[in-house]
Amino acid sequence: MEWNSAEKRVKELQDLLNKYNYEYHVLDKPSVTDAEYDQLLRELIKLEEEYPSLKSADSPSQRVGGAVLDSFEKVQHRTSMLSLGNAFNEEDLRDFDRKVRQAVGEEFSYVCELKIDGLAVSLRYENGLLAQGATRGDGTIGEDITKNLKTIRSIPLKISEPLSIEVRGEAFMPKGSFGALNKVKEEKGEEPFANPRNAAAGSLRQLDPKIAASRNLDIFLYAIADVGDTEIESHSEGLDRLEELGFKTNKERKRCENIEEVIQYVEEWTTRRPDLSYDIDGIVIKVDSLDQQEELGTTAKSPRWAIAYKFPAEEVVTVLRDIELSVGRTGVVTPTAILDPVRVAGTTVQRASLHNEDLIREKDIKIGDHVVIKKAGDIIPEVVNVLEDRRTGEEQEFLMPSHCPECESELVRLEGEVALRCINPKCPAQIREGLIHFVSRNAMNIDGLGEKVISQLFREKLIVDVADLYKLKKEQLLELERMGEKSVDNLLEAIEKSKQNSLEKLLFGLGIRHVGAKAAKTLAQQFNTIDKLAKATKEELTAINEIGDKMADAVVAYFENEEVQELLIELKQVGVNLEYKGPKLVAVDEIDSYFAGKTVVLTGKMEQLGRNEAKEKIEASGGKVTGSVSKKTDLVIAGEDAGSKLTKAQQLEIEVWDEAKLLEELNR
Ligand code: NAD
Repeated sequence: MEWNSAEKRVKELQDLLNKYNYEYHVLDKPSVTDAEYDQLLRELIKLEEEYPSLKSADSPSQRVGGAVLDSFEKVQHRTSMLSLGNAFNEEDLRDFDRKVRQAVGEEFSYVCELKIDGLAVSLRYENGLLAQGATRGDGTIGEDITKNLKTIRSIPLKISEPLSIEVRGEAFMPKGSFGALNKVKEEKGEEPFANPRNAAAGSLRQLDPKIAASRNLDIFLYAIADVGDTEIESHSEGLDRLEELGFKTNKERKRCENIEEVIQYVEEWTTRRPDLSYDIDGIVIKVDSLDQQEELGTTAKSPRWAIAYKFPAEEVVTVLRDIELSVGRTGVVTPTAILDPVRVAGTTVQRASLHNEDLIREKDIKIGDHVVIKKAGDIIPEVVNVLEDRRTGEEQEFLMPSHCPECESELVRLEGEVALRCINPKCPAQIREGLIHFVSRNAMNIDGLGEKVISQLFREKLIVDVADLYKLKKEQLLELERMGEKSVDNLLEAIEKSKQNSLEKLLFGLGIRHVGAKAAKTLAQQFNTIDKLAKATKEELTAINEIGDKMADAVVAYFENEEVQELLIELKQVGVNLEYKGPKLVAVDEIDSYFAGKTVVLTGKMEQLGRNEAKEKIEASGGKVTGSVSKKTDLVIAGEDAGSKLTKAQQLEIEVWDEAKLLEELNR
């Protein structure tokens, strides 16, 4: 590859992987399978090795995990919580073994452990009592989730000796609890969790510990973080010591004397994996001796003395009974395979998206075919291929219809697209899907209004457009299936609350073509009210950096539509906020404020303002609020009980204010 194309591809991969990392680690909601993610990451690593000048310190190949949520206090880890290098086959394992032998010679042992599919947490004990529990976060700074971790019964609040010690382990959701939780979620019409790992992470990163308590989480501890001051000489001794102290460890671990034994262990667990009551996604292999671990050292991202072998995606065979069509919010018609129910990677699968007609042709899929199904990364089922030699001649060719399955208007294939679309704006399927989008998390975020409830409301003609949601009456809702008094009250409260959302959520929810969540924010920030945006010309729109021709045209066309204008009047009448409420956009040099252009760190408890509010106000005054204190920090605001950040600020001689001084300056 030429340097120029390599540079372009590296940038593309970095952007994509950053996005996937954010979805996976911060939102707990991945949009691609782990296998796809891993493949892109390997491609990036390979290119960066070939062209070292393209490697930057903030590349996803060099970083651990994702960003840290602002809603939790941040915790600085005493020693970094790293990721692990990956092996995908026997050759990768032998390669790892070769490197270990080159570094430490032939005299060493491995410890193999199950790779539990959960999330890494760190627990700090002071004089034997649990003092703090944190997520891994970005490896250096995690989130303080002590209250949630205390709800896990297998985490001792007191250990058997009065030690001050930090330990690490994997918190997870057992398979049974995961299945039950998703069933309840589906019944409530909420979106199910993609996998037990995301379910565990989502449960532990809730502000209300009652939710974590209801989720039946568990933990296996696998390391003492600061063995420095103990007598422990090997990883296996560390695990025994953890047990002595009262921690739960995983019993399936095994000491292996060479790579052959490791490979045998991997093979054994590849078969035994379905019998476990929790999900594992691989095997972790660690060099046992701590001296040898130290000799091998670590890279910025992972230790050189350990590797994670990842299981290949599980594949099964079933029969494809039918192909169903559904019409999405933008009119795209998607074919879905209806399968004979089959268990794959922990759940029963009955449907798999076939995406579009081209894919059906490419894979030559016929109704009645035996097909291979996999859930790559244990998430989204897909048809891998057809078993042609099992055909009987009875299979039927599938033909895409020429008309919309919902409204019967003619389908079109837009230029350059593979999808077939229904372009009737009154198509009921599109309206229903649009309503589902309107209430979704990144849009108006109305809890309790999932797909099922919306479909029912729509079927009963209680809602026709989004404004109708705000006119729903308690009596009407009580008549719906599975809606008790309590859930109706909660739902009405959530609907009412959504009226106060800042404009960008509404803009995104309206589903204007080409306007994603980020563009919606930019538009809201720039125009401030929906009325001003509705009057914007194409020139005014394209003058904004991130808005291209296509989006500008779509925005202008949207607001020119008379029905849209009527909808806006209705939304106003029912009391939905149509203004932007977030930080304003002003060029830094135009701001007359102490904070303009300054980097500020907030720490400790704010009594009057609250962290988020303080952050918003400082940002609105042109300041930048960051999470950690460094030489680049201009000012630290220390609330009550400020800890390590305050100490660091003092060491670096950075200016420190209390909350009162902050308020005084903000109100000046
Ligand atoms: P990892 O999952 O490959 O391995 C490191 C983690 O393994 C540790 O942090 C720890 O939490 C866990 N672990 C479980 N059992 C362990 C044991 N016995 N000993 C030590 N550690 C153990 O790395 P990661 O950095 O946590 O996550 C990266 C992986 O996550 C990627 O390889 C990818 O598969 C997935 N991912 C997927 C997406 C997506 O969009 N699908 C996005 C980002 C990451």
